[in-house]
Amino acid sequence: MVIPGEAPFYSQLSEPVSDTGAVARILVVDDDAALRRSLPHVLAQEGRSFELCGSVAEAIALLEREGFDLILLDYRLPDGTGLAVLDWLSNAGREESIIVISGEDAIDAAVGALRRGADDFVRKPYHVAQLQRAVQSTLHKSALERANKVMGDKLRASERLHRYLVESSPDLIFTLDAQARFSYLNPRIEGLLGYQRNQLLKRPFLSLVMPEDLDRIQSLLKAQHENPAASFSVELRLRRPSPDGGGTGFITVAMQGIPMLGRDSGGGRYVGLYGVARDISDRKRAEEIISFQAYHDQLTRLPNRVLFKDRLELAIAQAQRRSGSLAVMFVDVDRFKLVNDTYGHAEGDTLLRGIATRLSNSLRRGDTLARLGGDEFTILLPDISSPEDAEVIARKILSALEEPFALDHGNFRATASVGIAIYPQDGQTAEALTQHADIAMYQVKRSGKNGFRFFAPELNTHHQSRIAIENDLRHAIDRNQLELYYQPQISLSRQRVVGMEALLRWNHPENGLIGPDAFIPVAEEVGLIGDISRWVLESACRQLASWRRNGFNDLKMSLNLAPHDFDREDIVGMVTDCIARYELPADKVELEITESMMMQDTAGVAAKVRELRKAGIGVAIDDFGTGYSALAYLQKLPVSVLKIDRSFVRDLDGLMTNPIISAITGIAKGFGLELIAEGVEHAQQAKTLRTLGCDIMQGYYFARPAQAGDAGALISMAPRAV
Ligand code: C2E
Ligand code: MG
Ligand code: MG
Repeated sequence: MVIPGEAPFYSQLSEPVSDTGAVARILVVDDDAALRRSLPHVLAQEGRSFELCGSVAEAIALLEREGFDLILLDYRLPDGTGLAVLDWLSNAGREESIIVISGEDAIDAAVGALRRGADDFVRKPYHVAQLQRAVQSTLHKSALERANKVMGDKLRASERLHRYLVESSPDLIFTLDAQARFSYLNPRIEGLLGYQRNQLLKRPFLSLVMPEDLDRIQSLLKAQHENPAASFSVELRLRRPSPDGGGTGFITVAMQGIPMLGRDSGGGRYVGLYGVARDISDRKRAEEIISFQAYHDQLTRLPNRVLFKDRLELAIAQAQRRSGSLAVMFVDVDRFKLVNDTYGHAEGDTLLRGIATRLSNSLRRGDTLARLGGDEFTILLPDISSPEDAEVIARKILSALEEPFALDHGNFRATASVGIAIYPQDGQTAEALTQHADIAMYQVKRSGKNGFRFFAPELNTHHQSRIAIENDLRHAIDRNQLELYYQPQISLSRQRVVGMEALLRWNHPENGLIGPDAFIPVAEEVGLIGDISRWVLESACRQLASWRRNGFNDLKMSLNLAPHDFDREDIVGMVTDCIARYELPADKVELEITESMMMQDTAGVAAKVRELRKAGIGVAIDDFGTGYSALAYLQKLPVSVLKIDRSFVRDLDGLMTNPIISAITGIAKGFGLELIAEGVEHAQQAKTLRTLGCDIMQGYYFARPAQAGDAGALISMAPRAV
């Protein structure tokens, strides 16, 4: 570390201080040889050494080679006067001490010599003691001067070092006077706050402190004033004037204040403080980011589960105090997984961000919207006067989602299921309220999604049994608890069984036989449906192969698939493989899919159906007429069969006709599709259906779903008369 153009200060700091009078080199210049030789004896002393010469020229030659501490210089020399030596010395900037010795009486000689820098003047003849005193005192004086100079150099070097350190310090260093006004500032102030340092001199330190920190720093300064021994450390924010003069900016510093005590009156008087302040804004910001990340969801920048719980607990405590009420809402986006799986996560993220924005726009200030993860959001309404307030918000949310979201792949209409729990009646703790809102939300999901409902205690028991089902279902396949029942499909014109529909049952070890409606939705939600469908496909194909071996070669096998099965990429391969393995003709296998699945073509259902049909496999639309009955999709989808939902068949009771069934038969004829009526329970229904043009029927009137053995026996039996 060297300051340009100067010797490094440490070299000056390490220069030794010479010991006064310890060593002295003395030059004697005199043309009187006897005198010259005698002087070293006269002046001899420990540590003194002598060099002798007799003319100006010799003296200068010697001086050019080496330095001395003292020169005893004769005034009158053969080749000039001693003044010539003095001139030479002063021109050369030398520091030797000089005593001029002269026989001259004239005062001029003495004055001339002293003017030219001689230290003393001794007139010949002199007393030996006089010369000895003069030498002694000149040497002493010059030793003192040298020591003084070294000291001064050292001090200056040290001062330079400290000034350099202070002035180039990355920290702000300053002093304040007893009135807390700046008395010194290092240049760092300019980079840090943008002030010139002289702008701030004499200005109060507190004028730089942000209002929020004023009280704290004021009391610290006061404490130091009262007890000047104490230093302090504090984090505070200093104002930064913005270019427009507004001054909203600030930096955060860690500051230390060390008292500065006066030297008078015993050194205990407080005269100000030394301050050091380090810019910790970056660290502060990093800390803030880290804590923001700890409490917020990265994708939507909404509060996360932790922060939500925190706010909820606070709101509960406040509601308790004022005997008020609050609401917790659980919002789950319907079929979000489809978007993610079909269009990719980037689109999924865009959708979630869009939904987050719409949700938060539906809320009031003071409400909290949080994202728990995935497609789950929670809302805290911290102050409601009645449950209707929450209902208003729930309706607002549902209608805010009605407008489709513009995704890269096109518009997407998102819906959500909303569950609501109210404090205090639905729970007293954050956990209970959130869980109950969640349970209510689940109920919305199960009853068709896209809606809201309040928690009710009886939902809890449903929920418990649901969880139990979920756990047991995970083992149902391994433990061989699943079984297919078969229900015949009868052609009235041909008077025989033309197909069988495979219907799934679960032999639960404790709860007995469970129907698919009770566990298929659970299997879909928890992701078990894929394994179950694979098992159904395998079992149904194996059964058909076995019936075919018994000669029933015309028999068709229908099996039901869940919407989720069409999310899988490999659904087509899975079906064709299985059929090939059991050497079944493709047109003897029929897949039933529900109408609602057709509505949202997110997973490319249409393309998959086309592929299945191309492979010769039958595709039936189950429960036809219950959904949106959008005829448009029938044009896009080359399905082979429509199954009239049993609700229409039931409505036929006592009637000879039904406009919906007439319409459906018309559609089937128009599109060239086979028609099957399901849920036929009475002969009358069958008759009417036949007159309406429907030939194939399925229902309790003909046969209930039965285990494989019993069903096998039904195939060859003549059906009941209609
Ligand atoms: P679905 O495909 O519409 O099946 C017809 C349902 O109506 C069956 O109920 C059947 O037992 C019932 N049924 C048949 N004839 C009559 C009748 O005359 N009167 C009345 N009231 N009901 C009749 P199940 O077996 O409880 O199945 C219910 C639903 O579960 C099925 O409706 C189907 O959507 C689904 N499902 C059945 N098996 C499977 C399967 O293996 N996989 C999938 N994903 N879903 C299945
Ligand atoms: Mg079916
Ligand atoms: Mg059906």
